[in-house]
Amino acid sequence: PLSKVIGGKRIEFRRMRVERIDAHRRVVITSEGEMPFDILVIALGSSPQYYGIEGLEENSLVLNSYEAAREIRRRIEELFREAGRGETPPRIVVAGGGFTGTELAGELAEWIPTLIEGYGLRRPDSLLTLVEAMPHILPGWNPELSRMAEEILASKSVEIVTGDPVKRASREGLELKSGRMIHSDLTIWTGGVTCNRAVGGDFEMVKGRIRIDDYCHAWGYEDIYVVGDASCALDGETGKPLPPSAHIAMAQADVVSHNIYASITGGEMRRYIGERVGEIVTLGRRHAIGELWGIRMKGLTARVMKKLIHLWYVHSIGGVKLLLGDP
Ligand SMILES: Cc1cc2nc3c(=O)[nH]c(=O)nc-3n(C[C@H](O)[C@H](O)[C@H](O)COP(=O)(O)OP(=O)(O)OC[C@H]3O[C@@H](n4cnc5c(N)ncnc54)[C@H](O)[C@@H]3O)c2cc1C
Repeated sequence: PLSKVIGGKRIEFRRMRVERIDAHRRVVITSEGEMPFDILVIALGSSPQYYGIEGLEENSLVLNSYEAAREIRRRIEELFREAGRGETPPRIVVAGGGFTGTELAGELAEWIPTLIEGYGLRRPDSLLTLVEAMPHILPGWNPELSRMAEEILASKSVEIVTGDPVKRASREGLELKSGRMIHSDLTIWTGGVTCNRAVGGDFEMVKGRIRIDDYCHAWGYEDIYVVGDASCALDGETGKPLPPSAHIAMAQADVVSHNIYASITGGEMRRYIGERVGEIVTLGRRHAIGELWGIRMKGLTARVMKKLIHLWYVHSIGGVKLLLGDP
């Protein structure tokens, strides 16, 4: 798909892993050696944030890429295959009830019943557990939408545990701050992200992400720009950090491409003004809720909007050709 987006343009694509950025020496240290730069755009995305919780990294999977999603799928299928007929199914725990964890719980709640049936297992009262540290899932969302999401997930037999942060993780499961133990055969950590660790230590950070100025420069660097999850975008109205989203990454990419051109040609730079347009969360195939530009939506409207946004995005990067999957 990448060749469909950048093919035909004068872009050299080189596949390698960034190990660290040395901003002072102006080089990117990669798996293939050092790469000097005049202008650098950091778009490395995020790494999971474990908040120093004991045992969590070793005893959980994360959902942060296509490959990670496939690994989760493989492990779940393996666990169900290994369970004996007539037994209770393996316990899956999604830890972190933000956007990613809530969507994942909704998807799993629709998939697990088919696995239970397929492997002849006993149907338990709850299919999986979603754990959230804050009093409600989808913290930061309109409380009515959070409650709605909880009701939909509960109707799909998802056990929701809120207001009790994860304190420790082990092979047996999760220990919460209250002392409660949640048994788990597979824990998927969706509790937060931080800037990709590969950026190194040369940048000023805000809430685990690179601080940027109004033009999307890394704070204090005129020739280094940061876009997407690696950056800490601030809400233009409240000044508070915005949750990472594809919408922000795309808006910043627009501003940065303009500003690089302007910096070379002597044109006027553009400012990035952070804005939270809203989100739509899908809860399996049939349910979706969200808020866009202050308009609350649910059901079919929300699902259609989410689909339209996806199609619009695909079109924006690859035109009709990519949209139609033209080989
Ligand atoms: C399950 C899930 C669902 C989501 N749903 C939505 C949604 O519905 N709407 C929405 O707005 N946002 C959603 N998001 C968030 C959205 O995906 C991100 O905000 C967006 O992708 C950020 O773009 P980015 O370019 O900063 O990072 P990414 O898209 O993560 O891109 C980073 C790239 O850098 C590469 N990379 C990483 N490390 C290295 C390295 N060391 N060397 C070289 N390359 C490297 C990665 O392979 C990747 O290609 C979702 C995220 C997840 C995980």
